[in-house]
Amino acid sequence: MEGPPGFERLREKYGELFDPGVSAAGCWIEVDPAKPPTIPILVAQVVSKLEESRAASIEVRVAGTALGVVTRASLEDLEGTAAGEAVPVSSGDRATLAGESSQFRALRYACPESGCGKEKFRSFHDARFLPSCGTDGHRLMELCE
Ligand SMILES: [Zn+2]
Repeated sequence: MEGPPGFERLREKYGELFDPGVSAAGCWIEVDPAKPPTIPILVAQVVSKLEESRAASIEVRVAGTALGVVTRASLEDLEGTAAGEAVPVSSGDRATLAGESSQFRALRYACPESGCGKEKFRSFHDARFLPSCGTDGHRLMELCE
């Protein structure tokens, strides 16, 4: 599949944000392939664009080519209620998309194995459900400050 330089790499980097069932959206954000934003920054941009446009989904483009589409549903999946465990409704710091986009804060987890470098993002921290990078033999990811 042909794309602008860095296209495949960016698609992989942001892959977990995209809703695979949606291929196009009316609103979009351009990503600079020379200086791609980190996932939390891109998420913050998408969330503010969702709020501003009232759209249901935002296409992320690089040099005019769609990388993928982020929907409200795919953002909620990203919050990853691990193992299907319900998050207590009262957990006050859980971010929502309902009008408080400035409060959205992604937490970054990194694989502690040297040379791995895999990262995942959550919008809340639950020490019982740390993400893993998916590589056999690697420890659970650690929350980065
Ligand atoms: Zn790892």
